[in-house]
This record gives sequence, structure tokens and C-alpha cells, in this order.
Amino acid sequence: MALERTLILIKPDAVQRRLAGTILSRFENKGLKIVGLKLMQVTKELSAEHYAEHVEKPFYPLLEEFITSGPVIAIAAEGPEAISVVRSMMGSTNGRESAPGTIRGDFGVSRQMNLVHGSDGPEAAAREIPIYFKPEELVDYESSLSAWVCADD
Ligand code: UDP
Repeated sequence: MALERTLILIKPDAVQRRLAGTILSRFENKGLKIVGLKLMQVTKELSAEHYAEHVEKPFYPLLEEFITSGPVIAIAAEGPEAISVVRSMMGSTNGRESAPGTIRGDFGVSRQMNLVHGSDGPEAAAREIPIYFKPEELVDYESSLSAWVCADD
């Protein structure tokens, strides 16, 4: 069981719709530990760095407009296999096709405004967390619940 860190963004649509607490609660309830958290405005430069693999794609101009349209909440979360755990909780990209029970499946019908971002693998997590957090903004601490939520099986 690998203890991993992943980057989660609560995207501008979720912040505007006052769903931030609901979405954050899902990750907390799952047992993930928050090690970084902040409300911030994504700039065009930050968007291009984060979505480097998409900048040449036809949908990028609208994605840039969306992700810079209002504040996001950036979260660094830690837990056993946190990267794949978060991805499965998010659901697939298009909210219309995302399974009920997932965040996108429960709260959205859009492919672009799909509420949440999560790193799609270990390399992405290692690249994305430093884009959003300085080292001193990530907090190492012990959680007394870890023995109950992270026990290996
Ligand atoms: N996106 C979009 N149109 C598309 C594909 C993606 O607007 O045709 C947006 C959507 O917000 C998505 C983000 O670009 O979350 C990044 O795309 P990716 O394929 O990495 O999807 P994800 O990993 O977020 O499910």
C-alpha cells in the first residue's frame, strides 16, 4: 500500500455553486488527509503550466477561460493510493457519462465544467503539487485517525 499525495482542484463552477464544502467533505469522509489547502485565482500562465498537455488542443481556449473565470480551491491530499482513490471518486470527464455516486456524476452535466480536478498519475501529482503549493505551504502532521483509516489489509 503506497502512501501518496495528489493535487485536487475544486474548480470555479463548484466554488460558484457553493459546492466546495460538500466536495471537500467527500474526500475527508473517505479518509484522505489534507496537507495543503488554499483559495486562489488561476492565471492564464498557471493554466498553461497546469494543462501543458492540452494547450494545443481545440478545447483549450474555452478551458482556459473557464479555469480562470473565478477562484479555485487547491488541495494537496494524502492517503493510501490517494491518486487513484481521488480519480475514482471524481468520475469520468463528462458529467453526463459519469456514474452516479461519483462527484461529477452526482453534481454535473457538463464535460468542461466538471467541478473537480485530480492528478491522473504519480508523475502528474509530482508535477502539479509544486505548481500550486510552495514547500512551506504543505504541512506534515500526524493524525490520530490514521491508525483507523489507513490500516493495511
Ligand atoms: N475539457 C474540456 N473539453 C474536452 C475535454 C476536456 O473542456 O473536450 C476540460 C475538462 O474541464 C477536463 C479538463 O479539460 O477536466 C482536462 O481534461 P482531461 O482530459 O485531462 O480530463 P480529466 O482528467 O479532468 O477528467
